Amino acid sequence: MNENELFPSITALGAKLFGVSEEKFSDWKWQLKKQVRTRKEAVAVLELTEDEERAFSEVEPLFNIGISPYAMSLMASMQQRGEDITALKLQLIPRLAELSDANGKKDPLEESANSPVKEVVQAYPDRVAFCVSNLCPVYCRYCFRKRRDEEEGLHYNRKIIEEGVNYIASNENIRDVLITGGDPFIASDQTIENLLEKIRAIPHVEVIRFGTRTPVAMPQRITDDLVGILKKYHPLWLNTHFNTEEELTPEACEALRKLADAGIPLGNQAVLLRGVNDSTEKMLGLCRKLIRNRVRPYYIFYPHMIEGTEHLRVHYKKGIEILKGMRGKISGFAIPQYILDTPSGKISLSHNHILKEDGKDLILEDLNGNPWREIDALHPPL
Ligand SMILES: *Cc1c(COP(=O)(O)O)cnc(C)c1O
Ligand code: SF4
Repeated sequence: MNENELFPSITALGAKLFGVSEEKFSDWKWQLKKQVRTRKEAVAVLELTEDEERAFSEVEPLFNIGISPYAMSLMASMQQRGEDITALKLQLIPRLAELSDANGKKDPLEESANSPVKEVVQAYPDRVAFCVSNLCPVYCRYCFRKRRDEEEGLHYNRKIIEEGVNYIASNENIRDVLITGGDPFIASDQTIENLLEKIRAIPHVEVIRFGTRTPVAMPQRITDDLVGILKKYHPLWLNTHFNTEEELTPEACEALRKLADAGIPLGNQAVLLRGVNDSTEKMLGLCRKLIRNRVRPYYIFYPHMIEGTEHLRVHYKKGIEILKGMRGKISGFAIPQYILDTPSGKISLSHNHILKEDGKDLILEDLNGNPWREIDALHPPL
């Protein structure tokens, strides 16, 4: 089957909807400048319900809103074909439900408490997350960074970068630096290269990693120039953040091709969200399409208790059941780990296949749900 028949390119439609040339539409700086933030801009390209229209104005004072013209056009193109866009709307379009969630927390990971210096989060001795950006290609409705940021001037702030780099340079245990945000690719090529240069100059830093949603929500950002810069700083790994199969448009797949061709190992971190990707079939569809595009499914995160996200949360067992259902239906390397993130680090949640110990034997549950006796597994010394 031709993938592009199922998922047509959206640049042509997008350019028409936004009244610009395809060349302009493909310019990421234009995409950023034209992020859709208001009801008026949204209804110009997408049919919304009355509640969704109201949510734009009522949510706006509390939470960030911003949707790239590209992401709007993806929804519009599916809507025109009569396809269900609920999974995309739940991720991108504000909802009134966001206003009525009393249990959520602002900073469930207590990141501020885990930061040796501003914006460097350290949960493990050997690696840090360095949050250099507070801008995103889209503002995801489930994100713990969704609250409107009171702090201005964080974005690639000179002082924060300098202090962060100095901290990493002074701590020889740090072998892996994860550059994240917000989205670290929402910056000029020069800004990104300046940072890479500084981090690569630290002898004990072995691996540089990026976490970015641009391949999903603004694939135009993955230019040949940017990729040319990234590949000068190997070993460099990149995790992106697709949640559903339909996000892998021809434009997104082209961005992934460029990155993979530059020798950058690609991983995907998804968040398990109610109504978005909370079934085995949907996860299988997503993961199959990821590996066809050389992206290895890495993590699926259990959704935290974040204010304004109650309507998107799932029972923790949902993820365990989904992953259990994937076993045997897809290549082993296409099955991500189900993770709950905590201030002390990431905890893996998975189905327990160990039923009991019986004498020197171990009794396991096999993939058909039947017991399997592994003879003598308890006998060799531990
Ligand atoms: C997720 C995370 C990392 C990276 O974890 P991996 O499991 O190595 O991908 C590093 N530091 C912090 C603070 C994190 O939250
Ligand atoms: S792009 Fe990432 S950091 Fe930005 S809002 Fe979405 S999930 Fe959060």
